[in-house]
Amino acid sequence: MQKPILILGACGQIGTELTLELRNRFGGTTVIASDIRNGSDTLMQSGPFELLDATDYDAIEDTVMHYEIDEIYLMAAMLSATAEKFPMRAWNLNMNSLFNVLNLAKEGKISKVFWPSSIAVFGPNTPKDNTPQNALMEPSTVYGISKQSGERWCEYYHKKYGVDVRSVRYPGLISWKTLPGGGTTDYAVEIYHKALEEGQYTCFLSKGTKLPMMYMDDAIRGTMTLMEADSKKLTIRSSYNLSAMSFSPEEVAQSIKSTVPNFEISYAPDFRQQIADSWPSSIDDSKAQEDWGWQPEFDLEKTTSEMLKNLKTKQQSET
Ligand code: NAD
Repeated sequence: MQKPILILGACGQIGTELTLELRNRFGGTTVIASDIRNGSDTLMQSGPFELLDATDYDAIEDTVMHYEIDEIYLMAAMLSATAEKFPMRAWNLNMNSLFNVLNLAKEGKISKVFWPSSIAVFGPNTPKDNTPQNALMEPSTVYGISKQSGERWCEYYHKKYGVDVRSVRYPGLISWKTLPGGGTTDYAVEIYHKALEEGQYTCFLSKGTKLPMMYMDDAIRGTMTLMEADSKKLTIRSSYNLSAMSFSPEEVAQSIKSTVPNFEISYAPDFRQQIADSWPSSIDDSKAQEDWGWQPEFDLEKTTSEMLKNLKTKQQSET
């Protein structure tokens, strides 16, 4: 039987869907959601919720003891675009929350940790196409620096203290249930909303900027598969490359046009262009395939069809 799970940062883009899916699988009361703010009605009504700051070790420890938590998924973080505006706050949140969770595992208070890394660990000197697992990493963003340091600490805690920490480098994630939280790939969610609401979208990245992306269902399935995988099969304890599709704003606009023929896209790149330019265009995830059987199910066409269908239904139910 699944022992209790705690999600830190459960009200964000990934945390919301992850919490709902874990509750679906293991039952509402097995999964304790927590955040520094309330989440959507669906999330709040689906099981227990605690207001909890991921940088507060004592508060997390109390919650772990109270619910007899066995696994923590750490989803609280400051994302790439916001982190460029508040470098020290991003560093403090992204690193201290990770140390809190790793130290709870080191002390034997929990037995398993999930912590997401990102394609932002790579930098401008990394080969851009089909970027290998162990490619040169010289991240040039605050966020990327925090994720790369986090990866090193995860591997260190595993080797030195036997901590069972598992991680993937998520690409940009596309979802319709919750809005994204300040990343450089947020355009790939906004574009679907604007296509339906206004029939046009001004993109903050230039038209040819190709980045690795993934539909949320794939990301959640990948995360849960990794967490259930046999520990002995996992050869990477920093973070696994994970890939599904790669596209540019122009290509996603083209795919939207097959459903919304009059859709127009224009381009006004801002400071996020420089962040995007430092990231890979596509990712080699053969290690995740070999070690725990990773396979994506959603390509761009399927993603566009799911996004437009679900957003349309959501908009109709709200009016
Ligand atoms: P998000 O910004 O949507 O959600 C983060 C959540 O953390 C928010 O609900 C916020 O209220 C909460 N939070 C902030 N400070 C907190 C604190 N001190 N204590 C507790 N909660 C706090 O982010 P997301 O997109 O859901 O990302 C989750 C994780 O996945 C992050 O580590 C992020 O770096 C990583 N990631 C996300 C993407 C993506 O495209 N969304 C891509 C790569 C990696």
